[in-house]
Amino acid sequence: MLGLMQDWPLTLDKILDHAARWHGEREIVSRSVEGPIVRTTYAEVHRRAKRLSNALKGLGIKPGDRVATLAWNSARHIEAWYAIMVIGAVCHTLNPRLFPDQLCYIINHAEDQVLFTDLTFLPTIIERRADMKTVRQVIVMTDEGHMASVGLDGALCFETLVEENGEDCAWGGFDENTACGLCYTSGTTGNPKGVLYSHRSNFLHTLVTLQRDFMGLSVQDTVLAVVPMFHANAWGLPHGAALAGADLILPDRFLQAEPLAQLIAAERPTLMGCVPTIFADLLRYADEHPDLDLSSLSNAACGGSAVPRQLMRDFQERHGVRIFQAWGMTETSPVATYSRPDENAEHDDAYWDDRARQGRAMPWVELRLIGDGGVEVPWDGQSTGEIEVRGPWIAARYFHGEEDDEKFDSGWLRTGDIAAVDDRGYVQITDRSKDVIKSGGEWISSVELENEVMAHPAVIEAAVIARPDERWAERPLCCVVLREGSTVDAQELAEHLSERVAKWWIPEEFAFIEEVPKTSVGKFDKKVLRAMLADGSLEGRMRASSGGGREGGPTPSR
Ligand code: AMP
Repeated sequence: MLGLMQDWPLTLDKILDHAARWHGEREIVSRSVEGPIVRTTYAEVHRRAKRLSNALKGLGIKPGDRVATLAWNSARHIEAWYAIMVIGAVCHTLNPRLFPDQLCYIINHAEDQVLFTDLTFLPTIIERRADMKTVRQVIVMTDEGHMASVGLDGALCFETLVEENGEDCAWGGFDENTACGLCYTSGTTGNPKGVLYSHRSNFLHTLVTLQRDFMGLSVQDTVLAVVPMFHANAWGLPHGAALAGADLILPDRFLQAEPLAQLIAAERPTLMGCVPTIFADLLRYADEHPDLDLSSLSNAACGGSAVPRQLMRDFQERHGVRIFQAWGMTETSPVATYSRPDENAEHDDAYWDDRARQGRAMPWVELRLIGDGGVEVPWDGQSTGEIEVRGPWIAARYFHGEEDDEKFDSGWLRTGDIAAVDDRGYVQITDRSKDVIKSGGEWISSVELENEVMAHPAVIEAAVIARPDERWAERPLCCVVLREGSTVDAQELAEHLSERVAKWWIPEEFAFIEEVPKTSVGKFDKKVLRAMLADGSLEGRMRASSGGGREGGPTPSR
Protein backbone atom coordinates (compact mmCIF):
# COMPACT_ATOMS: atom_id res chain seq x y z
CA MET A 1 0.00 0.00 0.00
CA LEU A 2 1.39 3.41 -0.97
CA GLY A 3 1.14 6.36 1.37
CA LEU A 4 -1.32 9.06 0.53
CA MET A 5 1.04 12.00 0.58
CA GLN A 6 1.74 14.31 -2.34
CA ASP A 7 4.26 13.31 -4.93
CA TRP A 8 6.87 16.07 -4.72
CA PRO A 9 10.12 15.10 -6.44
CA LEU A 10 13.27 16.30 -4.65
CA THR A 11 14.67 18.32 -7.56
CA LEU A 12 17.05 21.26 -7.30
CA ASP A 13 14.72 23.82 -8.91
CA LYS A 14 12.84 23.66 -5.59
CA ILE A 15 15.94 24.93 -3.76
CA LEU A 16 16.39 28.06 -5.87
CA ASP A 17 12.61 28.62 -6.05
CA HIS A 18 12.57 28.53 -2.25
CA ALA A 19 15.50 30.95 -1.95
CA ALA A 20 13.92 33.39 -4.39
CA ARG A 21 10.47 33.16 -2.76
CA TRP A 22 11.46 33.32 0.91
CA HIS A 23 14.92 34.90 0.90
CA GLY A 24 14.76 36.84 -2.35
CA GLU A 25 16.66 39.85 -1.04
CA ARG A 26 19.54 37.90 0.47
CA GLU A 27 22.77 38.57 -1.34
CA ILE A 28 25.21 36.71 -3.53
CA VAL A 29 28.43 38.68 -3.61
CA SER A 30 31.11 37.81 -6.17
CA ARG A 31 34.59 38.99 -6.97
CA SER A 32 34.02 39.16 -10.72
CA VAL A 33 36.51 37.89 -13.29
CA GLU A 34 36.60 41.41 -14.68
CA GLY A 35 37.70 42.74 -11.28
CA PRO A 36 35.05 44.57 -9.23
CA ILE A 37 32.81 43.14 -6.52
CA VAL A 38 29.37 42.38 -7.92
CA ARG A 39 26.28 42.09 -5.73
CA THR A 40 23.09 40.33 -6.66
CA THR A 41 20.25 38.55 -4.86
CA TYR A 42 18.60 35.14 -4.95
CA ALA A 43 15.55 36.71 -6.62
CA GLU A 44 17.72 38.17 -9.36
CA VAL A 45 19.75 34.98 -9.82
CA HIS A 46 16.49 33.05 -10.09
CA ARG A 47 15.17 35.40 -12.79
CA ARG A 48 18.39 35.36 -14.77
CA ALA A 49 18.76 31.57 -14.50
CA LYS A 50 15.27 31.20 -16.00
CA ARG A 51 16.30 33.37 -18.93
CA LEU A 52 19.45 31.32 -19.35
CA SER A 53 17.43 28.07 -19.30
CA ASN A 54 15.44 29.47 -22.21
CA ALA A 55 18.67 30.36 -24.00
CA LEU A 56 19.91 26.78 -23.58
CA LYS A 57 16.65 25.39 -24.88
CA GLY A 58 17.00 27.74 -27.84
CA LEU A 59 20.43 26.24 -28.49
CA GLY A 60 18.80 22.83 -28.70
CA ILE A 61 19.75 21.54 -25.22
CA LYS A 62 17.43 18.71 -24.23
CA PRO A 63 17.02 16.69 -21.02
CA GLY A 64 20.05 14.48 -20.49
CA ASP A 65 22.39 16.61 -22.63
CA ARG A 66 25.65 17.55 -21.00
CA VAL A 67 26.55 21.23 -20.68
CA ALA A 68 30.00 22.06 -19.32
CA THR A 69 31.20 24.96 -17.18
CA LEU A 70 34.83 26.03 -16.97
CA ALA A 71 34.54 28.73 -14.37
CA TRP A 72 35.54 30.04 -10.96
CA ASN A 73 33.03 30.57 -8.15
CA SER A 74 30.76 33.46 -9.13
CA ALA A 75 27.07 34.38 -9.29
CA ARG A 76 27.14 33.80 -13.05
CA HIS A 77 28.41 30.29 -12.40
CA ILE A 78 25.52 29.73 -9.97
CA GLU A 79 23.09 30.97 -12.64
CA ALA A 80 24.60 28.59 -15.19
CA TRP A 81 24.43 25.65 -12.71
CA TYR A 82 20.73 26.08 -12.07
CA ALA A 83 19.84 27.04 -15.65
CA ILE A 84 21.34 23.76 -16.86
CA MET A 85 20.20 21.38 -14.13
CA VAL A 86 16.62 22.44 -13.70
CA ILE A 87 15.69 21.75 -17.32
CA GLY A 88 16.89 18.18 -16.89
CA ALA A 89 20.27 18.72 -18.56
CA VAL A 90 23.51 17.75 -16.82
CA CYS A 91 25.96 20.36 -15.57
CA HIS A 92 29.48 19.10 -16.15
CA THR A 93 31.84 21.15 -13.99
CA LEU A 94 35.32 21.13 -15.53
CA ASN A 95 38.39 21.49 -13.37
CA PRO A 96 40.57 24.21 -14.93
CA ARG A 97 43.62 22.87 -13.12
CA LEU A 98 43.69 19.88 -15.45
CA PHE A 99 46.23 19.80 -18.24
CA PRO A 100 44.58 20.72 -21.59
CA ASP A 101 44.86 17.13 -22.90
CA GLN A 102 42.90 15.88 -19.88
CA LEU A 103 40.31 18.64 -20.26
CA CYS A 104 39.73 17.68 -23.90
CA TYR A 105 39.54 14.02 -22.91
CA ILE A 106 36.77 14.57 -20.36
CA ILE A 107 34.84 17.02 -22.55
CA ASN A 108 34.74 14.42 -25.31
CA HIS A 109 34.09 11.54 -22.93
CA ALA A 110 31.12 13.41 -21.44
CA GLU A 111 30.04 14.51 -24.93
CA ASP A 112 29.51 18.08 -23.75
CA GLN A 113 27.43 20.04 -26.23
CA VAL A 114 27.69 23.56 -24.90
CA LEU A 115 30.56 25.00 -22.89
CA PHE A 116 30.29 27.98 -20.55
CA THR A 117 33.65 29.58 -19.86
CA ASP A 118 35.09 32.44 -17.86
CA LEU A 119 37.29 34.90 -19.75
CA THR A 120 40.30 33.47 -17.89
CA PHE A 121 40.23 30.17 -19.75
CA LEU A 122 39.80 31.49 -23.29
CA PRO A 123 43.45 30.99 -24.31
CA THR A 124 43.18 27.24 -23.60
CA ILE A 125 39.84 26.97 -25.33
CA ILE A 126 41.02 28.87 -28.40
CA GLU A 127 44.13 26.71 -28.64
CA ARG A 128 42.27 23.42 -28.21
CA ARG A 129 38.87 24.29 -29.71
CA ALA A 130 39.29 21.79 -32.55
CA ASP A 131 39.91 18.98 -30.04
CA MET A 132 36.65 19.67 -28.17
CA LYS A 133 34.82 17.69 -30.78
CA THR A 134 31.38 17.40 -29.23
CA VAL A 135 31.08 21.08 -28.23
CA ARG A 136 28.69 22.93 -30.57
CA GLN A 137 28.68 26.26 -28.82
CA VAL A 138 30.85 28.23 -26.42
CA ILE A 139 29.23 30.80 -24.10
CA VAL A 140 31.61 33.34 -22.59
CA MET A 141 30.57 34.37 -19.10
CA THR A 142 30.94 38.09 -19.59
CA ASP A 143 29.16 41.15 -20.96
CA GLU A 144 29.17 42.63 -24.49
CA GLY A 145 31.83 45.15 -23.51
CA HIS A 146 34.35 42.35 -23.01
CA MET A 147 33.29 40.27 -26.04
CA ALA A 148 35.34 42.34 -28.48
CA SER A 149 38.57 40.93 -27.03
CA VAL A 150 37.36 37.32 -26.85
CA GLY A 151 38.83 36.21 -30.18
CA LEU A 152 36.81 33.02 -30.56
CA ASP A 153 34.66 32.72 -33.68
CA GLY A 154 30.98 32.11 -33.00
CA ALA A 155 31.24 32.49 -29.21
CA LEU A 156 28.08 33.76 -27.52
CA CYS A 157 27.91 36.38 -24.78
CA PHE A 158 26.39 35.27 -21.44
CA GLU A 159 24.88 38.65 -20.63
CA THR A 160 23.35 39.01 -24.10
CA LEU A 161 21.70 35.61 -23.77
CA VAL A 162 20.28 36.63 -20.39
CA GLU A 163 19.02 39.88 -21.84
CA GLU A 164 17.50 38.45 -25.01
CA ASN A 165 15.55 35.59 -23.46
CA GLY A 166 12.31 35.72 -21.53
CA GLU A 167 11.76 34.70 -17.92
CA ASP A 168 8.86 32.39 -18.55
CA CYS A 169 10.35 28.92 -18.25
CA ALA A 170 9.02 25.76 -16.64
CA TRP A 171 11.58 24.16 -14.35
CA GLY A 172 11.63 20.69 -12.89
CA GLY A 173 8.70 18.35 -13.42
CA PHE A 174 10.88 15.27 -13.87
CA ASP A 175 11.89 12.29 -11.76
CA GLU A 176 14.10 13.15 -8.77
CA ASN A 177 16.56 10.48 -9.86
CA THR A 178 17.32 12.44 -13.04
CA ALA A 179 21.01 13.25 -13.45
CA CYS A 180 21.92 16.85 -12.66
CA GLY A 181 25.70 17.10 -12.39
CA LEU A 182 28.84 15.42 -13.64
CA CYS A 183 32.26 15.76 -12.09
CA TYR A 184 35.35 13.81 -13.11
CA THR A 185 37.81 12.59 -10.56
CA SER A 186 41.39 11.53 -11.20
CA GLY A 187 41.73 7.81 -11.38
CA THR A 188 44.38 5.83 -9.61
CA THR A 189 45.09 4.23 -12.95
CA GLY A 190 43.78 5.08 -16.35
CA ASN A 191 41.69 8.08 -17.25
CA PRO A 192 39.57 10.34 -15.03
CA LYS A 193 36.19 8.87 -14.11
CA GLY A 194 32.86 10.67 -14.15
CA VAL A 195 30.63 10.84 -11.08
CA LEU A 196 27.05 11.50 -12.15
CA TYR A 197 24.98 13.15 -9.40
CA SER A 198 21.21 13.09 -9.33
CA HIS A 199 18.79 15.78 -8.16
CA ARG A 200 17.75 13.53 -5.30
CA SER A 201 21.32 12.80 -4.19
CA ASN A 202 22.27 16.50 -4.12
CA PHE A 203 19.00 17.45 -2.46
CA LEU A 204 19.43 14.96 0.39
CA HIS A 205 23.12 15.79 0.79
CA THR A 206 22.19 19.46 1.10
CA LEU A 207 19.54 18.77 3.72
CA VAL A 208 21.90 16.80 5.92
CA THR A 209 24.91 19.11 5.64
CA LEU A 210 22.60 21.87 6.89
CA GLN A 211 22.15 20.11 10.22
CA ARG A 212 23.76 21.86 13.14
CA ASP A 213 26.05 18.92 13.86
CA PHE A 214 27.58 19.23 10.39
CA MET A 215 28.06 22.51 8.51
CA GLY A 216 24.98 23.91 10.22
CA LEU A 217 24.10 26.65 7.71
CA SER A 218 21.31 28.97 8.78
CA VAL A 219 19.56 32.10 7.62
CA GLN A 220 21.80 33.97 10.03
CA ASP A 221 24.91 32.97 8.10
CA THR A 222 26.98 34.58 5.42
CA VAL A 223 28.80 31.76 3.68
CA LEU A 224 32.16 32.15 1.97
CA ALA A 225 32.52 29.28 -0.51
CA VAL A 226 36.22 29.14 -1.30
CA VAL A 227 36.12 25.47 -2.27
CA PRO A 228 35.63 25.52 -6.03
CA MET A 229 32.29 24.85 -7.65
CA PHE A 230 34.16 22.55 -10.04
CA HIS A 231 35.32 20.32 -7.18
CA ALA A 232 32.51 18.07 -5.96
CA ASN A 233 29.73 20.68 -5.92
CA ALA A 234 31.74 23.07 -3.73
CA TRP A 235 30.83 20.61 -0.94
CA GLY A 236 27.19 21.53 -1.47
CA LEU A 237 27.68 25.04 -0.04
CA PRO A 238 25.85 26.92 -2.84
CA HIS A 239 22.77 24.70 -2.54
CA GLY A 240 23.01 24.80 1.25
CA ALA A 241 23.23 28.61 1.35
CA ALA A 242 20.22 28.92 -0.98
CA LEU A 243 18.15 26.48 1.04
CA ALA A 244 19.03 28.16 4.33
CA GLY A 245 18.58 31.64 2.86
CA ALA A 246 22.15 32.56 3.85
CA ASP A 247 24.11 35.24 2.01
CA LEU A 248 26.77 33.71 -0.22
CA ILE A 249 30.20 35.10 -1.05
CA LEU A 250 32.12 33.79 -4.05
CA PRO A 251 35.79 34.72 -4.44
CA ASP A 252 36.32 33.90 -8.14
CA ARG A 253 40.03 33.14 -8.73
CA PHE A 254 41.30 35.35 -5.93
CA LEU A 255 42.20 32.53 -3.57
CA GLN A 256 45.47 33.84 -2.18
CA ALA A 257 45.61 34.79 1.51
CA GLU A 258 45.66 38.54 0.99
CA PRO A 259 42.57 38.98 -1.21
CA LEU A 260 40.72 36.38 0.84
CA ALA A 261 41.57 38.16 4.06
CA GLN A 262 40.39 41.45 2.56
CA LEU A 263 37.19 39.83 1.40
CA ILE A 264 36.57 38.41 4.88
CA ALA A 265 37.23 41.77 6.53
CA ALA A 266 34.93 43.59 4.10
CA GLU A 267 32.05 41.11 3.72
CA ARG A 268 32.16 39.54 7.19
CA PRO A 269 31.27 35.92 6.47
CA THR A 270 30.30 33.75 9.41
CA LEU A 271 31.07 30.40 7.79
CA MET A 272 33.70 29.35 5.27
CA GLY A 273 34.67 26.15 3.43
CA CYS A 274 38.10 25.41 2.00
CA VAL A 275 41.07 23.01 1.97
CA PRO A 276 43.78 23.03 4.69
CA THR A 277 46.41 24.65 2.43
CA ILE A 278 44.35 27.81 2.07
CA PHE A 279 43.52 27.90 5.78
CA ALA A 280 47.23 27.55 6.57
CA ASP A 281 48.09 30.47 4.25
CA LEU A 282 45.32 32.52 5.78
CA LEU A 283 46.53 31.78 9.30
CA ARG A 284 50.07 32.89 8.43
CA TYR A 285 48.69 36.05 6.88
CA ALA A 286 46.38 36.75 9.82
CA ASP A 287 49.23 36.27 12.29
CA GLU A 288 51.38 38.71 10.34
CA HIS A 289 48.58 41.29 10.15
CA PRO A 290 47.22 41.63 13.69
CA ASP A 291 44.93 44.48 12.61
CA LEU A 292 43.10 42.17 10.26
CA ASP A 293 39.56 41.55 11.45
CA LEU A 294 38.53 37.93 11.00
CA SER A 295 36.17 38.11 13.94
CA SER A 296 32.98 37.58 11.91
CA LEU A 297 34.13 34.07 11.05
CA SER A 298 33.21 31.62 13.74
CA ASN A 299 32.62 28.38 11.88
CA ALA A 300 34.46 26.69 9.04
CA ALA A 301 34.45 23.38 7.21
CA CYS A 302 37.76 22.00 6.07
CA GLY A 303 38.68 18.80 4.25
CA GLY A 304 40.08 17.40 1.06
CA SER A 305 43.12 16.19 2.98
CA ALA A 306 43.84 15.66 6.66
CA VAL A 307 43.41 18.88 8.64
CA PRO A 308 46.37 19.43 10.99
CA ARG A 309 45.33 19.64 14.64
CA GLN A 310 47.64 22.59 15.26
CA LEU A 311 46.06 24.55 12.41
CA MET A 312 42.63 24.09 14.01
CA ARG A 313 43.90 24.95 17.49
CA ASP A 314 45.80 28.04 16.36
CA PHE A 315 42.87 29.38 14.41
CA GLN A 316 40.50 28.81 17.28
CA GLU A 317 42.75 30.09 20.04
CA ARG A 318 44.24 33.07 18.20
CA HIS A 319 41.38 34.13 15.90
CA GLY A 320 38.23 32.55 17.31
CA VAL A 321 37.56 30.51 14.16
CA ARG A 322 36.40 26.94 14.78
CA ILE A 323 37.50 24.80 11.85
CA PHE A 324 35.74 21.45 11.69
CA GLN A 325 37.07 18.56 9.66
CA ALA A 326 35.06 16.84 6.94
CA TRP A 327 35.98 13.75 5.01
CA GLY A 328 34.59 12.63 1.71
CA MET A 329 35.32 12.43 -1.97
CA THR A 330 33.88 13.40 -5.35
CA GLU A 331 32.10 10.04 -5.33
CA THR A 332 30.40 10.89 -2.00
CA SER A 333 28.90 14.25 -3.13
CA PRO A 334 31.30 14.89 -1.25
CA VAL A 335 30.69 14.98 2.53
CA ALA A 336 30.46 11.59 4.24
CA THR A 337 31.86 12.14 7.74
CA TYR A 338 32.21 15.22 9.91
CA SER A 339 34.01 15.84 13.15
CA ARG A 340 32.09 18.21 15.36
CA PRO A 341 32.38 16.86 18.89
CA ASP A 342 30.27 18.20 21.73
CA GLU A 343 31.04 21.88 21.92
CA ASN A 344 30.30 22.01 25.64
CA ALA A 345 32.95 19.40 26.39
CA GLU A 346 36.15 20.51 28.03
CA HIS A 347 38.74 21.36 25.38
CA ASP A 348 41.24 18.82 26.68
CA ASP A 349 43.53 16.53 24.67
CA ALA A 350 40.77 13.98 24.12
CA TYR A 351 38.56 16.68 22.62
CA TRP A 352 41.31 17.79 20.24
CA ASP A 353 42.01 14.14 19.36
CA ASP A 354 38.44 13.96 18.12
CA ARG A 355 38.71 17.21 16.22
CA ALA A 356 41.79 15.87 14.46
CA ARG A 357 39.91 12.75 13.39
CA GLN A 358 37.78 12.65 10.25
CA GLY A 359 34.68 12.32 12.40
CA ARG A 360 31.51 10.29 12.39
CA ALA A 361 29.35 9.29 9.45
CA MET A 362 26.47 11.55 8.48
CA PRO A 363 23.00 10.03 8.74
CA TRP A 364 22.37 7.43 6.03
CA VAL A 365 26.04 7.08 5.14
CA GLU A 366 26.81 3.49 6.03
CA LEU A 367 30.45 2.79 6.62
CA ARG A 368 32.55 -0.33 7.10
CA LEU A 369 36.24 -1.24 7.19
CA ILE A 370 37.48 -4.07 5.03
CA GLY A 371 40.81 -5.68 5.87
CA ASP A 372 43.02 -8.22 4.12
CA GLY A 373 41.15 -11.07 2.51
CA GLY A 374 37.92 -9.04 2.31
CA VAL A 375 37.16 -9.52 6.01
CA GLU A 376 35.42 -6.79 7.99
CA VAL A 377 37.65 -5.16 10.59
CA PRO A 378 36.36 -4.43 14.14
CA TRP A 379 35.80 -0.85 15.30
CA ASP A 380 38.37 -0.92 18.09
CA GLY A 381 40.28 2.24 17.21
CA GLN A 382 43.35 0.15 16.37
CA SER A 383 42.65 -2.29 13.54
CA THR A 384 42.80 -0.73 10.11
CA GLY A 385 41.05 -1.49 6.83
CA GLU A 386 39.83 0.23 3.68
CA ILE A 387 36.77 2.42 4.20
CA GLU A 388 33.77 1.31 2.18
CA VAL A 389 30.61 3.42 2.14
CA ARG A 390 27.12 3.31 0.76
CA GLY A 391 24.15 5.62 0.98
CA PRO A 392 21.82 7.94 -0.93
CA TRP A 393 24.54 10.36 -2.08
CA ILE A 394 27.26 7.80 -2.75
CA ALA A 395 28.11 6.87 -6.37
CA ALA A 396 26.82 3.48 -7.48
CA ARG A 397 29.01 3.38 -10.60
CA TYR A 398 30.90 5.71 -12.93
CA PHE A 399 29.65 7.47 -16.03
CA HIS A 400 30.10 5.04 -18.91
CA GLY A 401 31.03 2.45 -16.33
CA GLU A 402 34.79 2.05 -16.63
CA GLU A 403 36.65 0.33 -13.77
CA ASP A 404 33.43 -0.35 -11.91
CA ASP A 405 34.51 -3.77 -10.71
CA GLU A 406 37.60 -2.43 -9.07
CA LYS A 407 35.84 0.44 -7.27
CA PHE A 408 32.56 -1.12 -6.20
CA ASP A 409 32.07 -4.10 -3.93
CA SER A 410 28.52 -5.52 -3.89
CA GLY A 411 26.86 -2.11 -3.58
CA TRP A 412 29.61 -0.50 -1.48
CA LEU A 413 32.05 2.13 -2.78
CA ARG A 414 35.68 1.27 -2.14
CA THR A 415 37.20 4.59 -1.12
CA GLY A 416 40.90 3.71 -1.24
CA ASP A 417 41.31 5.36 2.18
CA ILE A 418 42.67 3.25 5.02
CA ALA A 419 41.35 4.00 8.49
CA ALA A 420 40.71 2.83 12.01
CA VAL A 421 37.30 3.45 13.59
CA ASP A 422 36.78 3.52 17.36
CA ASP A 423 33.82 2.15 19.26
CA ARG A 424 32.03 5.52 19.08
CA GLY A 425 32.33 5.51 15.28
CA TYR A 426 35.07 8.14 15.01
CA VAL A 427 37.04 7.58 11.81
CA GLN A 428 40.79 8.14 11.77
CA ILE A 429 42.39 7.94 8.34
CA THR A 430 45.83 6.40 8.56
CA ASP A 431 46.87 5.84 4.96
CA ARG A 432 45.73 5.68 1.38
CA SER A 433 45.76 2.60 -0.82
CA LYS A 434 45.12 4.52 -4.03
CA ASP A 435 48.15 5.54 -5.97
CA VAL A 436 47.70 9.30 -6.14
CA ILE A 437 49.12 12.40 -4.52
CA LYS A 438 47.01 15.22 -3.18
CA SER A 439 48.71 18.59 -3.39
CA GLY A 440 46.87 21.65 -2.14
CA GLY A 441 43.56 19.83 -2.43
CA GLU A 442 43.97 18.59 -6.01
CA TRP A 443 45.09 15.24 -7.33
CA ILE A 444 48.31 14.41 -9.10
CA SER A 445 48.23 11.02 -10.76
CA SER A 446 51.44 9.22 -9.90
CA VAL A 447 50.83 6.75 -12.73
CA GLU A 448 50.60 9.51 -15.31
CA LEU A 449 53.64 11.29 -13.95
CA GLU A 450 55.63 8.04 -14.03
CA ASN A 451 54.63 7.42 -17.64
CA GLU A 452 55.77 10.88 -18.66
CA VAL A 453 59.09 10.58 -16.81
CA MET A 454 59.67 7.14 -18.34
CA ALA A 455 59.12 8.68 -21.78
CA HIS A 456 62.51 10.35 -21.32
CA PRO A 457 65.08 8.27 -23.23
CA ALA A 458 67.52 8.22 -20.31
CA VAL A 459 65.02 6.81 -17.81
CA ILE A 460 64.50 3.08 -17.30
CA GLU A 461 62.09 3.17 -14.37
CA ALA A 462 60.23 5.89 -12.46
CA ALA A 463 58.09 5.55 -9.34
CA VAL A 464 56.35 8.55 -7.86
CA ILE A 465 55.37 8.71 -4.19
CA ALA A 466 53.90 11.43 -1.98
CA ARG A 467 56.33 13.42 0.12
CA PRO A 468 54.77 15.19 3.13
CA ASP A 469 54.80 18.94 2.65
CA GLU A 470 53.96 21.57 5.21
CA ARG A 471 52.26 23.92 2.76
CA TRP A 472 50.65 21.64 0.18
CA ALA A 473 50.06 18.59 2.45
CA GLU A 474 51.79 16.40 -0.16
CA ARG A 475 54.14 16.92 -3.08
CA PRO A 476 55.31 14.29 -5.57
CA LEU A 477 58.75 12.77 -5.17
CA CYS A 478 59.93 10.98 -8.29
CA CYS A 479 62.33 8.06 -7.81
CA VAL A 480 64.16 7.35 -11.06
CA VAL A 481 66.46 4.67 -12.38
CA LEU A 482 68.66 5.97 -15.20
CA ARG A 483 70.23 4.05 -18.05
CA GLU A 484 73.84 3.19 -17.37
CA GLY A 485 76.18 6.01 -18.23
CA SER A 486 73.42 8.59 -18.44
CA THR A 487 74.09 11.96 -16.88
CA VAL A 488 70.59 13.41 -16.93
CA ASP A 489 69.91 15.55 -13.87
CA ALA A 490 66.79 16.64 -11.97
CA GLN A 491 66.60 19.92 -13.85
CA GLU A 492 66.50 18.22 -17.23
CA LEU A 493 63.76 15.84 -16.07
CA ALA A 494 61.71 18.80 -14.81
CA GLU A 495 62.12 20.55 -18.17
CA HIS A 496 61.10 17.36 -19.96
CA LEU A 497 57.92 17.28 -17.85
CA SER A 498 57.08 20.92 -18.39
CA GLU A 499 55.89 20.11 -21.91
CA ARG A 500 53.78 17.21 -20.75
CA VAL A 501 52.01 17.89 -17.46
CA ALA A 502 50.53 20.83 -15.57
CA LYS A 503 53.25 22.99 -14.04
CA TRP A 504 52.18 22.31 -10.46
CA TRP A 505 52.57 18.54 -11.04
CA ILE A 506 56.33 18.83 -11.66
CA PRO A 507 58.29 17.42 -8.69
CA GLU A 508 60.71 19.72 -6.92
CA GLU A 509 62.84 16.69 -6.13
CA PHE A 510 63.94 13.54 -7.90
CA ALA A 511 65.62 10.65 -6.10
CA PHE A 512 68.13 8.75 -8.24
CA ILE A 513 68.11 5.06 -7.24
CA GLU A 514 69.60 1.86 -8.67
CA GLU A 515 66.35 -0.06 -8.83
CA VAL A 516 62.68 0.43 -7.95
CA PRO A 517 61.77 -2.18 -5.27
CA LYS A 518 59.22 -4.73 -6.57
CA THR A 519 56.48 -6.81 -5.00
CA SER A 520 56.31 -10.58 -5.41
CA VAL A 521 54.26 -10.09 -8.58
CA GLY A 522 56.72 -7.60 -10.01
CA LYS A 523 54.77 -4.38 -9.31
CA PHE A 524 56.53 -1.27 -8.04
CA ASP A 525 56.53 -1.62 -4.25
CA LYS A 526 55.88 1.91 -3.14
CA LYS A 527 55.49 0.85 0.48
CA VAL A 528 59.23 0.21 0.50
CA LEU A 529 59.96 3.56 -1.14
CA ARG A 530 57.72 5.33 1.40
CA ALA A 531 59.55 3.55 4.23
CA MET A 532 62.90 4.59 2.71
CA LEU A 533 61.69 8.19 2.55
CA ALA A 534 60.51 8.03 6.15
CA ASP A 535 63.73 6.53 7.54
CA GLY A 536 65.93 8.95 5.60
CA SER A 537 67.56 6.41 3.31
CA LEU A 538 66.54 8.30 0.18
CA GLU A 539 68.10 11.46 1.55
CA GLY A 540 71.51 11.30 -0.12
CA ARG A 541 69.97 10.43 -3.46
CA MET A 542 67.61 13.38 -3.75
CA ARG A 543 68.36 16.18 -6.16
CA ALA A 544 66.39 19.41 -6.44
CA SER A 545 65.03 20.78 -9.67
CA SER A 546 63.58 24.19 -10.25
CA GLY A 547 60.37 22.38 -11.21
CA GLY A 548 57.18 24.37 -11.61
CA GLY A 549 55.82 22.85 -8.43
CA ARG A 550 58.29 24.96 -6.47
CA GLU A 551 56.19 28.00 -7.37
CA GLY A 552 53.35 26.43 -5.50
CA GLY A 553 50.69 23.82 -5.66
CA PRO A 554 47.50 24.24 -7.50
CA THR A 555 45.30 26.22 -5.25
CA PRO A 556 46.29 29.67 -4.06
CA SER A 557 48.70 30.42 -6.87
CA ARG A 558 46.27 29.89 -9.73
P1 AMP B 1 38.32 14.23 -4.04
O1 AMP B 1 37.55 13.19 -4.74
O2 AMP B 1 39.25 14.97 -4.94
O3 AMP B 1 37.47 15.13 -3.23
O4 AMP B 1 39.30 13.50 -3.02
C1 AMP B 1 38.83 12.61 -2.04
C2 AMP B 1 39.96 12.07 -1.24
O5 AMP B 1 40.63 13.13 -0.53
C3 AMP B 1 39.58 11.09 -0.19
O6 AMP B 1 39.36 9.79 -0.70
C4 AMP B 1 40.79 11.15 0.75
O7 AMP B 1 41.87 10.41 0.24
C5 AMP B 1 41.14 12.63 0.70
N1 AMP B 1 40.49 13.34 1.81
C6 AMP B 1 39.37 14.09 1.77
N2 AMP B 1 39.10 14.61 2.99
C7 AMP B 1 40.06 14.16 3.84
C8 AMP B 1 40.32 14.32 5.24
N3 AMP B 1 39.56 15.08 6.02
N4 AMP B 1 41.39 13.67 5.73
C9 AMP B 1 42.19 12.91 4.96
N5 AMP B 1 42.00 12.72 3.64
C10 AMP B 1 40.95 13.34 3.08
